[in-house]
Amino acid sequence: MNSCLLCGQQFAPAVSLRQFFSWRKVHVQRICIQCRAKFQALTDHRCQVCTGELAQNDVCLNCRTWRKIYGSSLLHHHAALRYNGAAHDLMVNYKRYGDYVLRAVLQELCYQELRQIKADYYVPIPTSAAHLAKRQFDTISAIYDDIVPLTPALLKVSDCGAQGSKNRTERLRSEQTFGVNHDLAFDFKQRKILLLDDIYTTGRTLYHARDALSAVFPAARIESFSIYR
Ligand SMILES: [Zn+2]
Ligand SMILES: [Zn+2]
Repeated sequence: MNSCLLCGQQFAPAVSLRQFFSWRKVHVQRICIQCRAKFQALTDHRCQVCTGELAQNDVCLNCRTWRKIYGSSLLHHHAALRYNGAAHDLMVNYKRYGDYVLRAVLQELCYQELRQIKADYYVPIPTSAAHLAKRQFDTISAIYDDIVPLTPALLKVSDCGAQGSKNRTERLRSEQTFGVNHDLAFDFKQRKILLLDDIYTTGRTLYHARDALSAVFPAARIESFSIYR
């Protein structure tokens, strides 16, 4: 019997052959079936670009905004689950209260989706130095480190420049907070890179991350993944 990391109840974990033959660590189920049911898959009717759920059309309003800035060079995004109330509560406990053990729950929620997306490099969105000092761990790397090999190619750099004099479009273009970690010897030329984050809301963070890498590796094929959309 296992103890559920979310509700504390004892439960009998389900074991699948797929888990037995996985070349990576055998995955141990960490949450009970009742807690798992609180997290919802995204519906089939999704945006072609970012997997966001749609009321109509093929591309969501969010991606239409990005199209005005980036033209056809939109970031193709993958996500596992809907960002609902249960997801929000879990992320608050994980990030605000620095509950490191909850990373195992987040891994459980996303690993099957993530393993289906093949990439040459998996690049986590870096945590700022202030958040790292507060929580004592990097919230994104801690989730994905056990699932895929990570390449920490991005650095969080402080943004600069007066924003007040710029219009909205200029601000969206200029608020870059990422740089490329040149200390690492990696070559992203013509490789497929998957950026990893926890939640996709507007896409601003991931577009900035993509832009920072594209500036140095223009031929790299970059997509992104988050647990929640
Ligand atoms: Zn439970
Ligand atoms: Zn979209």
